[in-house]
Amino acid sequence: MNMNSQQWIEKSDKYIMKTYGRYPIVPVRGEGCRLWDADGKEYLDFLAGVAVNNLGHCHPKVVAAIREQAATLIHCSNYYQIPQQIELAELLCTNSFADKAFFCNSGAEANEAAIKLARKYSRDTYGPQRYEIITAAESFHGRTMATVSATGQEKVQRFFDPLLHGFKHVPFNDADALAAAVTPDTCAVMLEPVQGEGGVNVPSQDYLGKVRRICDEHNLIMILDEVQVGMGRTGRLFAHERFGIEPDIMTLAKALAGGAPIGAMLARDRYAAAFTPGTHGSTFGGNPLMTAAALAAVRTILEDGILPRAVQMGAYLTDKLKELGARYPFVKEVRGIGLMVGMGLSIPGGDIVKKGHERGLLLNVTHDTVLRFVPPLTVTMQEVDEMITILDGILAEVEA
Ligand SMILES: *Cc1c(COP(=O)(O)O)cnc(C)c1O
Repeated sequence: MNMNSQQWIEKSDKYIMKTYGRYPIVPVRGEGCRLWDADGKEYLDFLAGVAVNNLGHCHPKVVAAIREQAATLIHCSNYYQIPQQIELAELLCTNSFADKAFFCNSGAEANEAAIKLARKYSRDTYGPQRYEIITAAESFHGRTMATVSATGQEKVQRFFDPLLHGFKHVPFNDADALAAAVTPDTCAVMLEPVQGEGGVNVPSQDYLGKVRRICDEHNLIMILDEVQVGMGRTGRLFAHERFGIEPDIMTLAKALAGGAPIGAMLARDRYAAAFTPGTHGSTFGGNPLMTAAALAAVRTILEDGILPRAVQMGAYLTDKLKELGARYPFVKEVRGIGLMVGMGLSIPGGDIVKKGHERGLLLNVTHDTVLRFVPPLTVTMQEVDEMITILDGILAEVEA
């Protein structure tokens, strides 16, 4: 195991499938907002595992919960009752619109479960022809066949025809287009409250309220994919709270267990009742180890002042990025919500990300031209200032 980064990269080339164009960085240890690679180089992490490490790397409460549970019971089966899973379901339901939870292992699986539940409810209630789901252009819902079909991005879908039948895409943040797409065969609408992979697209304040009304008018199930924006990212536990509405079904994953893999699909009783024994399942979903980690993570988000902090630090980060952006002509816009902030560029951002790596800063570019900042919600002002100084140096170099 005592190999340097270059040796790991060579072995990776030999044995790992190339589904990712990986950067030549080998993180081996993390703490808070910092990572260290196999050569001992330190990085300031403003990607946080793509909005997964909301509590920073190796949060002591999550580490302690995993240690204790791992030594007690790692896995049994969903044929039995699992106390940690039950407690997690109660915690999520009592802090949201939802009545019941289903647990799985990833965001794609959570969305897969939401799609199946919407179809099953609609079939039971209205008959088999009512199965169409409206989703948004530039959305991202996962990499399984159903969620690829739901995703509104050609680059995710191409090569995998035939896609799953029954998805229709409309422009995001356009309630009229959505209303016009509803037919007697529509059963649900599925949206990210704020689009992440699509380029940090924050809708107008009244968009989700209009969608809610359209859903109510036509008896459509409103599904919100909060896989990326849930768990405090926007300064509320769930992003839809920022828009004053409640969905019927919500999906969660990324930050739910402080870095441990888990997914959840939450629903109102009326819909949840459609999942009867044998209609859906997951071997690992909600197992003792992952739900113990999630319990610690969710409790920490709720009890340790993480949400007001995300609001405060989100405003600080946004202000600093706006100040910085105003000095460079190729920065078009800074937009975001809470601690999910995008810097829109008029040039591709890939080079800036690579220069960041050289200077010990982990950043991400999405949609080619949008620098995405999703640091841990525990990020400090000093860390934001440090990031801004590094980024300033990079932008000056790019301009020159
Ligand atoms: C990351 C993401 C997913 C997919 O989650 P996986 O755990 O990678 O399957 C789905 N929806 C949104 C909004 C995401 O950001």
